Amino acid sequence: MSKQSVTVVGLGPMGRAMVEAFLDRGHPVTVWNRTASKAAGLVAKGAVQVATIEEALAANELVVLSLTDYDAMYAILEPASAALAGRVLVNLSSDTPAKARAAAEWATARGARHLTGGVQVPPSGIGKPDSSTYYSGPKDVFEAHRETLTVLTGTDYRGADPGLAALYYQIQMDMFWTAMLSWLHALAVADANGISAEEFLPYATATMESIPGFLGFYTPRIDAGAHPGDVDRLAMGVASVEHVLHTTEDAGIDPALPAAVLEIFRRGVAAGYGGDSFTRLTELFRGTTVTV
Ligand code: NDP
Repeated sequence: MSKQSVTVVGLGPMGRAMVEAFLDRGHPVTVWNRTASKAAGLVAKGAVQVATIEEALAANELVVLSLTDYDAMYAILEPASAALAGRVLVNLSSDTPAKARAAAEWATARGARHLTGGVQVPPSGIGKPDSSTYYSGPKDVFEAHRETLTVLTGTDYRGADPGLAALYYQIQMDMFWTAMLSWLHALAVADANGISAEEFLPYATATMESIPGFLGFYTPRIDAGAHPGDVDRLAMGVASVEHVLHTTEDAGIDPALPAAVLEIFRRGVAAGYGGDSFTRLTELFRGTTVTV
């Protein structure tokens, strides 16, 4: 059976990896990119490059968008609105849940259907089945194209709300960047004390590997709204973060990161929760704590 043909719009590192994955698996691919020269290598491998976005949309029902953000999508597709009817837009550009919901409405108003995607891997992970992408939007549209999308990565359908894929992506990024920054900060303090990144690596890894145990322990308590101070107390956390801050200052390293963490811990104590677990801070973030 012949493989479904696909249009890919956007040939940054991600879009190019996607085109290569489709070509490798025998899918005919039509490409368009604002900077046309980026298609050269892909054309040599069998992709068909078209000169206009209208031609790209006309070529296939399935149109994968891999752009910097959703504003780039509007910049490209708004002038070609008349060519959108009947298309399935699989938007693999990162942006906010609100932008994804607005884009789904925008596409629907023009006779197209929109699937939001949140790709969880860098270009090197494209074409690997153990990678994963969150999808959300109309289930029938997702199911109709699941097999073709699986060429890019594994799929994780999160639900009909078009914002969900973007939401799952962003809350993972929330954790990812904070964790990575904490590592860079610790590296700076280590370096100021003559410890190289290489020397610190097994210790940094051990700390990161301990995190899932904490998540598993605290999650049922958080879901139950229970924050007993039986294994940790917010007041103890304040003392601990103060030590981190002072160690940072003693090393002559920018203290902005631990200072921000300390400020949040102190707010929890000021709200009267010094005897509770640090997990009480989740309510502080939601603004649902009551000052006692
Ligand atoms: P890039 O930012 O390199 O992709 C840029 C693409 O968007 C290019 O095709 C560029 O065109 C186009 N573009 C940007 N602005 C405009 C505009 N105003 N008008 C027309 N075209 C525009 O990103 P990547 O390829 O790295 O990633 C694509 C998406 O995937 C992003 O949303 C990114 O967040 C997400 N992602 C990326 C990962 C990564 O590791 N790279 C990992 C997971 C997700 P031109 O070539 O003409 O500049």
